[in-house]
Amino acid sequence: MKNEFDKELLDTVLGKIISYYEANSDADTPVVNYRPAKDLIKELDLNFSSGGATKEDLLKQVDNYFKFSPRTSHPQFNNQLTGGFSNEAILGELISIVCNATMATYEVAPVATLMEAHLVSELNKILGFESSTQKGDGIMLTGGSNANMMAIHCARQRKFPETKMQGNGNKQMCVYVSREAHYSHQKAMLLMGLGLDNLITVKADSAGRMCIEDLKNKVQTSIDQGKTPLLVCSTAGTTVLGAFDPIAKINTVAKEFNLWHHIDGAWGGGVMFSEKYKHLLNGSGEADSLTFDAHKLMGSGLITSFFLTKHENTLEESNSGGGSKYIFHDYENAEYDTGKKSLQCGRKVDSLKFWLMWKAKGHKGLEDFVNTQYEKQNYFVGLIKENPCLKLIQEPEFLNVCFQVIPKDESVEINKFNFDLRFKLVKEGKMLTNFSSFEDGTIFFRHILANNMTKKSDLDNLLNHLIDLSGEV
Ligand SMILES: *Cc1c(COP(=O)(O)O)cnc(C)c1O
Repeated sequence: MKNEFDKELLDTVLGKIISYYEANSDADTPVVNYRPAKDLIKELDLNFSSGGATKEDLLKQVDNYFKFSPRTSHPQFNNQLTGGFSNEAILGELISIVCNATMATYEVAPVATLMEAHLVSELNKILGFESSTQKGDGIMLTGGSNANMMAIHCARQRKFPETKMQGNGNKQMCVYVSREAHYSHQKAMLLMGLGLDNLITVKADSAGRMCIEDLKNKVQTSIDQGKTPLLVCSTAGTTVLGAFDPIAKINTVAKEFNLWHHIDGAWGGGVMFSEKYKHLLNGSGEADSLTFDAHKLMGSGLITSFFLTKHENTLEESNSGGGSKYIFHDYENAEYDTGKKSLQCGRKVDSLKFWLMWKAKGHKGLEDFVNTQYEKQNYFVGLIKENPCLKLIQEPEFLNVCFQVIPKDESVEINKFNFDLRFKLVKEGKMLTNFSSFEDGTIFFRHILANNMTKKSDLDNLLNHLIDLSGEV
């Protein structure tokens, strides 16, 4: 196949995309055509030939891709913190790749640069990072994991600017997170040379929220050991239970010990759009920074991640270095260049999909989106509570609903039973919901209500189906 503009090919693929979405409303369409990897390798034609594939062959590969990829926009996909369908996400992603701009400079990505800056500013206003007296800053990056790392990076730069030239020296800089926090903090410690021993785990209560007394004790212990407390990260919406750490109380501890307070709102940050639920982020404006993944709760498509901060110059101070000879020229729009604030050189345009979404829905539309997902959560929790075959693991604060199916036969071990039941569901492919476990060995379903396509009737169907299937486990 020649590498030239092929209208027919593009038309065909666009047609396939439309058929793909249309099939979601067909009751017989599975969420996943599950194959173990060793079988899938045989079904796919992964090898390259020296002469290249024909157009027909290539389209067959496209069909295979669609066929064997789980349908995250299917109403019965509730497996991940991402899922659902958004016209704006598709438009945004398609148009971004068509223009294929890199975000380093205003010159190459003028529209996307202004859109990203506008999104950062709007989000910062909601969070209390931007006001008439405070500018705030932020950047889109390759995911919430990297946004969490960016927080530690900025905290180190602001508190110990000498580290930029001299490295960490012999300071043992400590980061505090709850036991329920995301594993990305471990990766950040690895990469920044801070050491996993200096990632200090703070206790959480039974709902999964950070214990303030334990935080204070752990910080004091580090000081007594001659270490240097650097940052505390609260989680707004934990990955398993959906718990929100007490942000305002953590602010007080952060002030007392001069810590940077970062909020990991990768999953739960979207509550900021809802009058009814934004209280979960109360105190955010007193914190230093926040991670927000709009591709999770708001469904704007992977990846739509933000690192947001109230400190105006910290991103550039932390990340600038090099590039002045060939890319960052001194010109009339230099102040708009985002490359100096980023760890990447080439950076994909991620703003357009979320900008289009906000433009299309308006503030009210984003609020309705969040509230509707909560309504479904309420409904689902009600179904679980009224059904004697089911057991709610935890009264949810957010859109994670954790529950177990109780085996009819009392002699059956409940944890293994739930594990087996979940795998049976995956292999069958009609519905997809995830599972998780506690340290004590409890295994339970973790149903995530991030998917805007899921209807209440889908939730009824899921539970009924699980109970039916449980007879076969
Ligand atoms: C998903 C998640 C992350 C990681 O975000 P990615 O965009 O997947 O890198 C971090 N923290 C929390 C609480 C999350 O739920």
